[in-house]
Amino acid sequence: MENLLCLRNAFGGWLEKMNVVPKSPVVRMKLAFGRLYSKMFSDGKAAGVAISFDDAHVDEWYCLKDLFGRYGARVTFFVSNFDLLPGESIEKLKMLRDDGHEIAFHGLRHLSAGKFVQEHSLDEYLETEIFPGIDAMNKAGFSPMTFSYPYGVRAPHIDAALLKYFRHVRGVACTDNKRRLTDIGQIYCGHEGRLVFAAGIDNVYGNSVEEIRAAMKKALEKGKTLLLFAHRTSSEPGDYCTPVARIESVLEYASGIGLKFYTIKDI
Ligand SMILES: [Zn+2]
Repeated sequence: MENLLCLRNAFGGWLEKMNVVPKSPVVRMKLAFGRLYSKMFSDGKAAGVAISFDDAHVDEWYCLKDLFGRYGARVTFFVSNFDLLPGESIEKLKMLRDDGHEIAFHGLRHLSAGKFVQEHSLDEYLETEIFPGIDAMNKAGFSPMTFSYPYGVRAPHIDAALLKYFRHVRGVACTDNKRRLTDIGQIYCGHEGRLVFAAGIDNVYGNSVEEIRAAMKKALEKGKTLLLFAHRTSSEPGDYCTPVARIESVLEYASGIGLKFYTIKDI
């Protein structure tokens, strides 16, 4: 079943990729110039892209292990409901970690932090959603260093509380008809802040491959790291799915223009 899933994703990805990856000499020349530009103007930490994946789609994520390896990509998996994962999924997460990916935390029960804190209290949120989740991961041999907010719902006092336990916390920045990826300054991280924001690349967010490429080019030119996130990694239709072909396009373009791949803990 799982091999079928991998095969289907790989085949779907290959088909879609044929239409979206530029191969012309002019594009190759531009990419080479980008690499040179990055080396000349980046301010200490190299310009990069930090891609993260949320929730608990471990089987689909694991299918991309070889794809990530092919581009030397390091990514971050923010896992929720960790204590409910079968042993096989835990082993897959360990293998992804062995490849250099970050296994991070997305809440024990994927609660909306803002809503829960409003209805209960900050202390109760930490006791219910955060500490037991960290414990479950610790018991399985993981030490999560970063956290992403389920639904992106956050508030400054919750950030402050969580930053006592995590190196970085990640929120969400949304595009709309007027603000596209290249307009949102928050998603270009200069490596100085511990509260960071990512833009979604799932189908529901409506960001085209061309726009994502333009955003990566902007990160390169500004010497910053672009933060992107997704959920399911499947070529099936679905709001919270990112087709494998789109992921490969991002990896190929980032690698081609010389962006460094960052995990969230390393940005
Ligand atoms: Zn989530």
